[in-house]
Amino acid sequence: MATHEHDHDHDHDHDEREELSEAEARAEVERLVRKEVALSQIRQYGDPVLRMRAGEVETFDEALPELTDRMLELMHDADGAGLAANQIGILRRIFVCTLEGEDRVFVNPVVTPVGRDVESEIEGCLSLASVRVPVERAAKVTIEAHDAHGAPFSLELEGHPARVVQHEVDHLDGKLMLDRADPESRREALGILRPRLVLS
Ligand code: ZN
Repeated sequence: MATHEHDHDHDHDHDEREELSEAEARAEVERLVRKEVALSQIRQYGDPVLRMRAGEVETFDEALPELTDRMLELMHDADGAGLAANQIGILRRIFVCTLEGEDRVFVNPVVTPVGRDVESEIEGCLSLASVRVPVERAAKVTIEAHDAHGAPFSLELEGHPARVVQHEVDHLDGKLMLDRADPESRREALGILRPRLVLS
């Protein structure tokens, strides 16, 4: 009986492990599908909207938090650290990002470098497929903006958070990280991006 119980427990454990890994595999497939669907909704390099300057938001109505919630969901599904409105074809000065694990919304943001220190780090972009380039940016900035309900706030940021907000504000000005990369990195990146343009 003890042996039987042991076998039974053993089999049971085994089944549970298989069920768990199946569930994990399903969750992983779902995550990848969500990511594909999200990326298909994000404008890609070559789309003229990525080269246009977004206009100031003048009215804070209830459509705005709905939009920024949708942008945050897309950003998370696509596995990104930030998403600007241009990237979903909306030319308004709005971006969302995660700063140290916290979702943030910036409307009409203005970034000002603090001091003269710059740092170079590798960046990626949801609109530039697998391209990674080193980009030099101000190490420390202040950012003034409004939240989705129109409340003004200002933050002082350094390191990665400072980099993320500078990348996103660039999008609102129609600028891409490629524009700030050194000539060699830019050439390499275009080598990755150009064949995609021919095929699409
Ligand atoms: Zn980007």
